[in-house]
Amino acid sequence: MSRSATTFACTACGATSRKWAGRCEACGAWNTIQEEAPLSQGPGARALTQRGKTVPLTDLGTEEPPPARISSGIGEFDRVLGGGLVPASAVLVGGDPGIGKSTLLLQAAASFARTGARVAYVSGEEASAQVRLRAGRLGLAQAPVKLATETALRDILTTLDAERPDLAIVDSIQTMWLDTVEAAPGSVAQVRAAAHELVSFAKRRGVAVVIVGHVTKEGTIAGPRVVEHMVDTVLYFEGERGHQFRILRSVKNRFGPADEIGVFEMTGTGLAEVANPSALFLSARDAPAPGSVVFAGIEGTRPVLTEIQALVAPAPPGSPRRTVVGLDSGRLSTILAVLDARCGIPFTGLDVFLNVAGGLRVNEPAADLAVAAALLSAREDVAIPPDTVFFGEISLSGALRPVAQTENRLKEAQKLGFSQAVVPAGSRLGAVPGLKVREMADLTAVVGEMFGAG
Ligand SMILES: [Zn+2]
Repeated sequence: MSRSATTFACTACGATSRKWAGRCEACGAWNTIQEEAPLSQGPGARALTQRGKTVPLTDLGTEEPPPARISSGIGEFDRVLGGGLVPASAVLVGGDPGIGKSTLLLQAAASFARTGARVAYVSGEEASAQVRLRAGRLGLAQAPVKLATETALRDILTTLDAERPDLAIVDSIQTMWLDTVEAAPGSVAQVRAAAHELVSFAKRRGVAVVIVGHVTKEGTIAGPRVVEHMVDTVLYFEGERGHQFRILRSVKNRFGPADEIGVFEMTGTGLAEVANPSALFLSARDAPAPGSVVFAGIEGTRPVLTEIQALVAPAPPGSPRRTVVGLDSGRLSTILAVLDARCGIPFTGLDVFLNVAGGLRVNEPAADLAVAAALLSAREDVAIPPDTVFFGEISLSGALRPVAQTENRLKEAQKLGFSQAVVPAGSRLGAVPGLKVREMADLTAVVGEMFGAG
């Protein structure tokens, strides 16, 4: 790559290209391609002509102790990390601006510091006074957290090198800049280079580094996806601004299970952890109404019960609407097609709205049966008994397929006072006393048993 060559990079996904385009070929985003200075000159011609030293190879059977972890004392935060922070690791916390990332991390910083860990909080977003004000509002003013407000990464790394904290939090990666990179802060090149420096610092010095990244709406600033592949753990902080629930979800974790969630509630004094999310997500449930179904899901390692709501209404002429919140819209189309083709229940001429209550996002195929039941209940205007939970995958033939962790789902339902479960035939039920389990082979059976002849 010659020095003069101009490259372009997508601020949404980080893909680089030789020419500008209105739409990124890699991720499909519009207006996200920005001109960039070349990221690296490559290793050069002489790099690999010298022999390296040999490294020891070990057997597969060699026992390695599990990584020591620092616990924050915030149960939901530690859970998402897989049991606490691993030293010499890099964690990315992404999320929309204003969703509460700084609040969460300041609370976590204070909590880590109170357990005896040395914590440095570097803010490039706010002045010290603002961070102190927030700490005061959260009742954390006395926590022994070291604070710096700086954006020059060279100075930050020098400071961290001298201070040697156990944990360094950098808020946010979009404000950091390196004097060795000729690009504006927030550009793909700067964000990547800054993240690379922070990750190598974490590895070199044994410090756990937490990097905050804003999910950006406009294409001029690089988003957190650009650095996802560099870090050990990627967490996203999700939630609707109007809702009081916030969900911290691990989408990648080298040291623990991915897809684990931690649930928090936004309160006047910061984020409070929610130890029993099922109770929270179901607490806002209205009186039993057609279209409302409880799904017994699994999020990471724990069962979570949520309400799935469907509304079916006559559509004006033209193509009917399919509006989905919290579920995959492709999955909805599949289930509608199966209901039509296998059960003879068409949704043509009907608008369909589908929603997971409480702002949770459900990615499991196990939600299929609950979605189908909600759609049928809404279409037939028949309320499902409120003490019933549903789960199971639907195949294209209309057959119901058993899903993983059946017993955990049933136990959670029983614990929360449900007395009936509709599950695929052949599920490994286990022993859950006090719960009536109705096994059904296919969708036609569900239609026949729960909604009359259909
Ligand atoms: Zn892209």
